[in-house]
Amino acid sequence: MLDRLRLHVYPKEPLTCAKLTQYASLKLETKRRAKPTLHLLHVGRRKEKLRSAEAGAAADPKHKESSAMEVSGLDSDGKEFKNAEEMWREQIGEDGEQQEKKTQWYREGISYWEGVEASVDGVLGGFGNVNEVDIKGSEAFLQMLLSDRFPNARNNQHLVALDCGSGIGRITKNLLIRYFNEVDLLEPVSHFLDAARESLAPENHMAPDMHKATNFFCVPLQDFTPETGRYDVIWVQWCIGHLTDDDFVSFFKRAKVGLKPGGFFVLKENIARSGFVLDKEDRSITRSDFYFKELFSRCGLHIYKSKDQKGLPEELFAVKMYALTAEMPRRVSKSRSKVQANRPGIIR
Ligand code: SAH
Repeated sequence: MLDRLRLHVYPKEPLTCAKLTQYASLKLETKRRAKPTLHLLHVGRRKEKLRSAEAGAAADPKHKESSAMEVSGLDSDGKEFKNAEEMWREQIGEDGEQQEKKTQWYREGISYWEGVEASVDGVLGGFGNVNEVDIKGSEAFLQMLLSDRFPNARNNQHLVALDCGSGIGRITKNLLIRYFNEVDLLEPVSHFLDAARESLAPENHMAPDMHKATNFFCVPLQDFTPETGRYDVIWVQWCIGHLTDDDFVSFFKRAKVGLKPGGFFVLKENIARSGFVLDKEDRSITRSDFYFKELFSRCGLHIYKSKDQKGLPEELFAVKMYALTAEMPRRVSKSRSKVQANRPGIIR
């Protein structure tokens, strides 16, 4: 998934004319060479297009109040879409042809990953070196959430997590298995799931006592319904971009039923600065924070906490972590203390 990041480099600073020329010549240069630098071509073209699309969107007076779905976006060739609907219409078609085109969308997503090596570097698109900083950021976020939501977890509470789009089990192995007694993995690409099964086998892995990877589901998210009330945490990282908006919403609606009372989702994803960016190579989209928020509200999910991932290389997309709950977060502490402060006290 981070592979897409390599393709979708964001300009951190406004592009000057000199820079645009530089990208333009890069484009010609890459045409003469072949594959590996093709990415650079995309990068250059995308930077240019992205910049103007963002500038256009910002200049549009309707931009601020309109729905996230109305904001323009780009594909990996730099082609601009007026809005998400136009992009989805092109990708998965109108109602009539929808099923066939949608099946093709998912098939192409899977076949992209089937061609990727089952390694940390593979699932991180050649950015294996971000594994450590990613896990550290996730661990700090998870610790804060667990102590908030499960303050009694140490008292023999049996915690269970689901790692969605787990790839080779990188997150389970480096993080989840240390905090949860059981972790289930869901991954549609069988050679990734086989690698996960092997590296998480008790003889190959030093999990703490009574902590284990239990189930390995070889299915895509859009076809999965979890067992009712099994999970404390459902972790979804770097895979939700493969789901269409409708499947995103129906997945989270079904998955809510899989949470225990007090349970929550963690969604960790790349964030587009504006609108969306479609990757035609692996059939996925990167959504903006605004876009995600609109989908969360369609799912009936509330943002309990969110945090930016720090320390990633500059040229990658920003990455955000959202903790999502089915129930409205209660702001008890503030209102209670106010009420208590106003209540007459007993003087002893
Ligand atoms: N979350 C893992 C893997 C990221 S790579 C990690 O951070 O290490 C993206 C993963 O999404 C791949 O393993 C890919 O097979 C998976 N994926 C692709 N399409 C999917 C779908 N429709 N449902 C669930 N997972 C999908």
